[in-house]
Amino acid sequence: MAQKDNRILLLNAPRLPLEDAKLEELTGDLHDFAHAHGLVMRLATDKLSSEVCQTTPLTLLPSPFPKNVFEQAVKLQDLYALLYHTIAYDFDFLIDIHKNVVKTDEFIRNMIEILKKVKTQGLKQPITLAIQRSDYMCHKDQASAEYGLKQIEINNIASSMGAHAQRLTEWHIRILKALEVPDDVIKRAIPENKPIPMIAEALFKAWSHFNIPSAWVLVVVENVNQNQIDQRHVEYELEKLGVPMTCIIRRTLTQCYEQLSLNETSDLMIDGRPVAIVYFRAGYSPDHYPTNKEWEARERMELSTAIKTPWIGLQVANTKKTQQVLSEDGVLERFIGKPRDARDIRISFAGMWALENQDDVTLKVVQGAQKHPDAFVLKPQTEGGAALHTGDEMVQMLRELPEEERGAYILMEKLRPMIIENYLVLAKKPVTFAKAVSELGVYGYAFGAKDAPELKTAGHLLRTKPETTAMGGVAAGHAVVDTPFLYEFI
Ligand code: ADP
Ligand code: MG
Repeated sequence: MAQKDNRILLLNAPRLPLEDAKLEELTGDLHDFAHAHGLVMRLATDKLSSEVCQTTPLTLLPSPFPKNVFEQAVKLQDLYALLYHTIAYDFDFLIDIHKNVVKTDEFIRNMIEILKKVKTQGLKQPITLAIQRSDYMCHKDQASAEYGLKQIEINNIASSMGAHAQRLTEWHIRILKALEVPDDVIKRAIPENKPIPMIAEALFKAWSHFNIPSAWVLVVVENVNQNQIDQRHVEYELEKLGVPMTCIIRRTLTQCYEQLSLNETSDLMIDGRPVAIVYFRAGYSPDHYPTNKEWEARERMELSTAIKTPWIGLQVANTKKTQQVLSEDGVLERFIGKPRDARDIRISFAGMWALENQDDVTLKVVQGAQKHPDAFVLKPQTEGGAALHTGDEMVQMLRELPEEERGAYILMEKLRPMIIENYLVLAKKPVTFAKAVSELGVYGYAFGAKDAPELKTAGHLLRTKPETTAMGGVAAGHAVVDTPFLYEFI
């Protein structure tokens, strides 16, 4: 799959940099387009209101991305959805692999406690829904100088930015036309990008399966949410499919604690009507559970007949720990029946190691990371783009982390994404022409009971950040939304 990166020919891609006048004109057009199409975010200074919004952080142009690597990611998505759908039902595996994580990570400990209760009481709702985005980098191998697809992480909860990415693809087609790129080139270089109809379809299937016309779609949200508009596009699409707007409700976990109850048949009730589906756009961070009340609300949901996306098994399977354990010899292969499929998934794994393991290989790698900090990153279990330990900080942590805390981290090979150039557009800031790197996410879902779920893949997101920025995350202010301009090697 991997290819040499010399003599890349980006036939017909716009020549950069653009002339100043052209840049100014196109940037102005982009802001109009963004506001006309809901490609906007709330202001950082006023995250509670949509009255005044700003253009989402974006790239002006699509970024070059190798076509074969992109296609590999798209092809893998159904396999990843099936893999995580399957792991989620293996309670004993999930409890066992997190036994060291729970010693010091209170958040995962609370999740595992709920998982154990679900295990004891049995699933009240055997149908589950995974709405997923798998994130990758196009990694340049240092020894061979070849590019290949390597996974950063999987997102089984609150996979966001799809609405922005979908709209940005429309803009990127538009700007390529404005720059007189021929239509047939645009067609080949810009793949269709429609994650939101797919996500809405998944939610609609779950709601229809519940088969009570007045049942709720409960969207679990944060108290404060700068990226509200991205979420709203999913709800509006869901209404188009036939879920009445009077059946869609948004609640924080604190409100869920106050308003949700379980009836005698384990239906999750709110305002006298059952919840068909709980769609978590929050609930992945310790901040979302400030007190025990929020955990109680989560437990009620998990012990109910509502279909949850994700359910607790799938969320526990979301951890970096699960990702690392899957990469150990023979583990992934236990969950994927076909050896060829397992091989295809395994090719996309980066090197990952458990700090607490005492085998020779791990000890050597941990020593290696202290000597060559530039080749590794250290990750806790936290979600949401907030915590990545690199450089001197990582070295110090590797040296000083107490024994009982080591299980809560994974050590990962630092990926070296290919470097591209693009214009980064941030509202009210000068447009910058930057050397940048990208992370590709591919959206998909798995819906159904334990065996033979329905699988679907549609849509993608590129997030691009200056080459020198370590962390990702658009909402966290590190990266901007982008889409790929696919090119082939000659
Ligand atoms: P989170 O759950 O916080 O999103 P990620 O695993 O996605 O955790 O890490 C956050 C960001 O850190 C990524 O978006 C990416 O930019 C960077 N990152 C994570 N892992 C690596 C890695 N192995 N090599 C290089 N960069 C990484
Ligand atoms: Mg991430």
